[in-house]
Amino acid sequence: MFTGTLPEQVNHQKLGRENRKLEGTIPVSNFLRLKASLEKDIGQVNLKIEFRKGRKHTTRLIGNASADLRMMCQRCLSEMSYKVDVSIRYTVVNTEEALIELSEEEDGILCIEDRMTLVSIFEDELIVNLPMVTMHELEESLEQVSVGEDNKVGRCRVDHVNDDSLIKPNTYRPFAGLADMKNDIKRS
Ligand SMILES: [Zn+2]
Repeated sequence: MFTGTLPEQVNHQKLGRENRKLEGTIPVSNFLRLKASLEKDIGQVNLKIEFRKGRKHTTRLIGNASADLRMMCQRCLSEMSYKVDVSIRYTVVNTEEALIELSEEEDGILCIEDRMTLVSIFEDELIVNLPMVTMHELEESLEQVSVGEDNKVGRCRVDHVNDDSLIKPNTYRPFAGLADMKNDIKRS
């Protein structure tokens, strides 16, 4: 298993054929769209990803990303840490037809080339798991004030938007894939 700082790009076809696993880190600052929502782009995203050969020319990706992101508390406007931990399961296809043919349970990524960036695999999932509003917890008020289920007065809370049913990325997103790909080509 590969560990350490991960390469920016990988050949998913080759890694899939070899059943490879990668584990390591990528700087938060490499996630260009994610860092637009952050107070600071310091730190690392820890990644684990398995590549498996799928049907025809597809690659199955199973992975997990976690990071301690620096966001701004919207109550006191100071920096705070927000921990994210996301899992992905994607099928990488190289044609739009193949994307359409995926079963409903499969999330597809369109990638015409054999190479893709690790950032492009995880970035969408990290972004949709960011909270709409970030605020520090205020623990001292938890016991003193009896607060009803819907009454959060007196508590600084983190408004999680982690309810998957609300904000799952679309299964079918050929244009997102194309946009990522164009960016990848520009960067390389
Ligand atoms: Zn605060």
